[in-house]
Amino acid sequence: MWYLDANATEPLRPAARDAAIAALESLGNPSSVHQAGRAARRILEDSRERVAQHLKATPQQIVFTSGATEANALAIHALGAGRPILIGSTEHDAVRAAAPGAVAIPVDRNGLVDPARLNTLLAAHPDALVCLMAANNETGVLHDIAAAAEICAAHAALLHVDAAQAAGRLPADWLALGAVSFAISGHKLGGPMGAGALILNSKEVTPLIRGGGQERGWRGGTPALPAIAGLAAALGEPYDAAKIASYRDEIEAFCIGLGAIVAGRRAPRLPNTMCLAMPGLKADTQLIGLDLAGIAVSAGAACSSGKVAASHVLTAMGWSDLAGNAIRVSLPWNAAADLVPAFTAAYETVISRAARHPQKVTG
Ligand code: PLP
Repeated sequence: MWYLDANATEPLRPAARDAAIAALESLGNPSSVHQAGRAARRILEDSRERVAQHLKATPQQIVFTSGATEANALAIHALGAGRPILIGSTEHDAVRAAAPGAVAIPVDRNGLVDPARLNTLLAAHPDALVCLMAANNETGVLHDIAAAAEICAAHAALLHVDAAQAAGRLPADWLALGAVSFAISGHKLGGPMGAGALILNSKEVTPLIRGGGQERGWRGGTPALPAIAGLAAALGEPYDAAKIASYRDEIEAFCIGLGAIVAGRRAPRLPNTMCLAMPGLKADTQLIGLDLAGIAVSAGAACSSGKVAASHVLTAMGWSDLAGNAIRVSLPWNAAADLVPAFTAAYETVISRAARHPQKVTG
């Protein structure tokens, strides 16, 4: 099987597996005062230091969570209280669901926010909490976080960044760029599922989950030590962005030759992500055809629910006519050159089969 669905979850990094297994085999709860507890606490605090070091934060700024969904929810809960909330119209459901009633920040056809538009929105909603993702999960489009942070600062607004797809793939320093917080997810960067973190430049936090005072009282509950140790180990692993982008470019050029449209292609993007829309051919037909050929991709926003629905991301970008025709191909960190001919051959077969058996209903 060729696994080209890394934005759903990256394959586990060997270093993350080793760190997680070592933590699984250790005894003790980090909150216990005896030796075993202290050993577990050491794993937790070493992991925190490693994460802080890689993300250019301090250990005190790291709150471990169950993943990026919880980290985003915590940020919005902790920072958004009493403020208007503005969110990008292509944000992940983790952010959209945590901010019901938020004002949407429109994007252009490339998936980018117009700085002048953000400025106008903030003039009408000063002191807001603005949520913008660093990298979009469906298109890979990168928002200009530095520019957004500057506009937010001019309006005394706070900027929270969902960096779930960017962390581990882009060397970025979101706090230094001016964000007040950002969310990451362990399994999106080659760690195990079950851990994420909110990196937060704020002294006061209203917790979302209260309990035994873990994470300095900011997030109750026993931390998932193996997943956290794996996250910290995965963050330190190299990522060959140039190699992965070269495979992506080869695949895109081939698919464009067959008539596909690549959403967000003119914007700065992650090296591994392509959103391929084939006019007239339903996403689920493409997905199933590729799956039969042993190639795993996803369709639109389907990754969370398992069902294929039209993508709100493409709709927000003005591609609603193609929102039901797009698949997401996201190359994993360990992508090898042979995936390019494997994918292009399978895609060509799917397209030519569809040409022989046209679909009655499109979109
Ligand atoms: N934010 C983005 C951009 C994502 O792509 C995802 C997962 O698909 C999430 C948040 C949620 O991450 P998690 O699975 O760690 O809760």
